[in-house]
Amino acid sequence: MNGITISKGIVIGTVLVKPADEIIVKQKSARNIEKEQLRLAEALDASLAQIDVIAEKERENTAGDGPLISDSHRMFLQDVEFTGKMKQYIVDHKMSAEFAVQSVSDDMIKIFQSIEDPYIRERMADIADIKRRILRNLMGIDEFHFDQLPEGTILVAPELAPSDMMQMDITKVYGCITEGGSATAHFAILAKSMGMPMLLGVKNAACKMKDGEVVVLDLDVGEVHTDCTAEQLEVWKERETAFRNDVKDMKKWIGHPSVTGDGNVVLLEANIGGPEELNAVKEGDAEGIGLFRTEFLYMNSSALPTEDEQFEVYKKVVEAMNGKAVTIRTLDIGGDKELTYYNLPKESNPFLGVRAIRLCLKDKELFRVQLRALLRAASYGNLRIMFPMISGVQELRKAKRLLSSVKKELEEQGIPYGRNVPVGIMVELPSAVMVSDLLAKECDFFSIGTNDLIQYTIGVDRTNPKVAYLYDFMHPAVLRMIDIVIKNAHAAGIPACMCGEAAAEEKLIPLLVYMGLDEYSMSANQILRVRRRISKVHKAETWKEYQNALELI
Ligand code: PEP
Ligand code: MG
Repeated sequence: MNGITISKGIVIGTVLVKPADEIIVKQKSARNIEKEQLRLAEALDASLAQIDVIAEKERENTAGDGPLISDSHRMFLQDVEFTGKMKQYIVDHKMSAEFAVQSVSDDMIKIFQSIEDPYIRERMADIADIKRRILRNLMGIDEFHFDQLPEGTILVAPELAPSDMMQMDITKVYGCITEGGSATAHFAILAKSMGMPMLLGVKNAACKMKDGEVVVLDLDVGEVHTDCTAEQLEVWKERETAFRNDVKDMKKWIGHPSVTGDGNVVLLEANIGGPEELNAVKEGDAEGIGLFRTEFLYMNSSALPTEDEQFEVYKKVVEAMNGKAVTIRTLDIGGDKELTYYNLPKESNPFLGVRAIRLCLKDKELFRVQLRALLRAASYGNLRIMFPMISGVQELRKAKRLLSSVKKELEEQGIPYGRNVPVGIMVELPSAVMVSDLLAKECDFFSIGTNDLIQYTIGVDRTNPKVAYLYDFMHPAVLRMIDIVIKNAHAAGIPACMCGEAAAEEKLIPLLVYMGLDEYSMSANQILRVRRRISKVHKAETWKEYQNALELI
């Protein structure tokens, strides 16, 4: 069976299939209205008490970063309109408390179902979660205790809720397999930052697997193996031990500077999508944040985030990084990243259309709000502003002019802001590469976005699996582009960073060291592995490899 992975490794464990969540509620009329209302009130109280316990655990797990899932559950449970409707339903329809809870919750879910907004959809899952909790309390059904799973468990479930993840003990639950979900589902993002091995989108997993059977998760290739023979299991166990030893070995690199074998110091930084990843950033021992993709802030919201909302988030990240650089990229929406509440024009080639900086320069008010928030947050630490998809000098100048006018506005209003905030650009278009000598004179740093640079250089849609075989970070054209950008950065005396996925590629690292890349930014959990790898590269010894790769000798 195959699935989507969010981390690497081999995990062996014992299956435990989570029973289906659906609770059957019969249509039952109420004999005593007051008694039903009292039962409902007690179930709501019990649910709130349980949420408090979950919140406590959540706080421990997230070190207080990001919004708590339990907060939104509590919000619904304390919403007098929502719970009031349930009470009223009992009176109006003379039905049992169970039936009232189900009807009112399902009505609410139906309304939300017709809305495509991903934020609303998350709230829909919250209501379904709460409905089950209240029903369990009413019907005396035991909760599935995610916090009491035996050691060695591989949990198999149709779907998981973020609140389920928060309760699991990572030392006992060795991994999870889900039938649904995608790498960007909230519970998967949480699993990633907790370090929980997970295979998602495994079709009919819950039907195909039995409690107590031993399975192997091969996360390197995204497979789950059942019915292994004793000999096969021995081989898997050896690979699992090797993987665990490797993880232990990587931990030794915490606190070490990032230095090549022949003493060249580089910076290894983290890519993040929001403050909820700060824990992982700390555990990965990142030396800064090389890319904060702010579009997730916009995508996880039901309306454009206000200046103050953004300011709070940026300030939190900057303060948490305690003087280390935090590179915040301005909104990069468009292409494959949509904002449902914002009317993006329909285009036949969205990756070549009004995307990223192009959109921001069109909708100046949208851009100004973000720039104000960024500049204000810059007075709390080491914040760097980065513009995405810059195609040439004129575009960079336009963005910088707007930034200057926003600074002037803040100055006039007497609002504190970072006066000397460094401004850099993503180099992710071939045109930017070819004029990188000129661009370097007008900005403070470059960050090479290989994810897009590869797609635009080779002409291969990064989201299309049919042409994925052409999407090659080792293509000499891509390597030459990287080389040009680094050379031009250094000629102008500015640092060159890379924040595309290629920055963590084992095969590419010796070449990047040779070219003299200054900063590598990647998923936080890749940093220690890359630090170890870099320590073994001797720049002087990679010349031949560099020549071969660039010229395909
Ligand atoms: C890139 O293009 O390499 C990059 C880091 O940005 P994104 O993946 O968000 O487009
Ligand atoms: Mg990009």
